[in-house]
Amino acid sequence: MRDDTKLARGGRESADGFKAVNPPVWRASTVLFDRVEAFDRRKDLRYDGFSYGTYGTPTTRALEEALAEIENGSRAVVVSSGMAAITLCFMTFVRPGEHVLVPDSIYKTTRSFCDQLLAEFGIGVTYYDPHVGAGIEALIGPKTRLIFLESPGSYTFEIQDVPAIAAVAARRGVITGIDNTWASPLFFKPLDHGVDVSIQAATKYVSGHSDIMLGYLAVKDESLFRRIKDTVGQFGNCVSPDDCYMALRGLRTMGVRLRQHEKTAKELVSWLSERPEVDRLLYPAWPEDPGHALWKRDFTGASGLFGVLLKPASAAAVAAMVEGMRFFGIGASWGGYESLMIPAYPKDYRTATAWHEEGPLLRIHAGLEDAEDLKEDIAEGLARLSAAGK
Ligand SMILES: *Cc1c(COP(=O)(O)O)cnc(C)c1O
Repeated sequence: MRDDTKLARGGRESADGFKAVNPPVWRASTVLFDRVEAFDRRKDLRYDGFSYGTYGTPTTRALEEALAEIENGSRAVVVSSGMAAITLCFMTFVRPGEHVLVPDSIYKTTRSFCDQLLAEFGIGVTYYDPHVGAGIEALIGPKTRLIFLESPGSYTFEIQDVPAIAAVAARRGVITGIDNTWASPLFFKPLDHGVDVSIQAATKYVSGHSDIMLGYLAVKDESLFRRIKDTVGQFGNCVSPDDCYMALRGLRTMGVRLRQHEKTAKELVSWLSERPEVDRLLYPAWPEDPGHALWKRDFTGASGLFGVLLKPASAAAVAAMVEGMRFFGIGASWGGYESLMIPAYPKDYRTATAWHEEGPLLRIHAGLEDAEDLKEDIAEGLARLSAAGK
């Protein structure tokens, strides 16, 4: 099956009996058993069958099956948010006294988790240049247990040489985990490129409607799955079956949505590249982007999120632009059907590399509105920016 067929078919065989097109919402905490002997062996059922609400109901399983399939994995575990998926990856594979490698372009909340919680638990964190490639080998020490990746990087969009890093890690016996939220499993399949754990903030494109929080971890390897599932259960991290149902609905249209997000983002990027107010576009699908060659080699598409580096302008001028937008909201997250525009400040927190750009950076999510309306809106915004700068 090709991806769009997987999106339409996945997870529909799990709930037996009643043949609705969509698997229904099965809500449960307690699961009943007929025999004491079966109840006493229920621990084994957390991986495949059903034992307790924490470990999922048929609705959860339906979503997890569909996600594993689209990732070309064998298993997926859903958790309460993208951040929960990321932190549970660290908590599963790293222990006090050990060490992790994290790209300098990492999502900011992941960075806070590393600097605060991991540091307080005695886990060493080394930030690395996202462009390090196979050079990651020099940073691996005897205590290194996990190499984390995120490609492209949050706000700054550096593309990592994921296959090169994964190959080194595999040779050195280090687990790799990637935050693949930007591309989604439709446009980049980490498990096919040698990564052990593919992580997705399903809050974004899987949901697609800015109304649920969800994350997941997908793997090929059964033993990794069991370790993740045990950690997730011990943390008591679980997802409401209603949210799983919503995510499964979102998944059905993810292919058509993403292709439209991509089309509009490309159109906006190309149009913005002609604008005198713009210094540089940060979008791997844009031929002038430094990550373009790697993106072309490894990805099959680009999503709707990109950066616009403006020529130097005051914070007040940027606020005048952003606050007056008609179709672009000011808000965290992205991946819904609506457009967003926010300022970003990568200079403030990098440690392994420096962000030298002088001008302000905007992060734009191209939604599903008409591209011409979005362009007109941005043109008016740029006019406000220039007027405020005078
Ligand atoms: C939004 C986001 C997350 C966090 O996901 P939540 O579901 O909001 O916790 C993690 N990584 C990236 C790249 C994101 O954009």
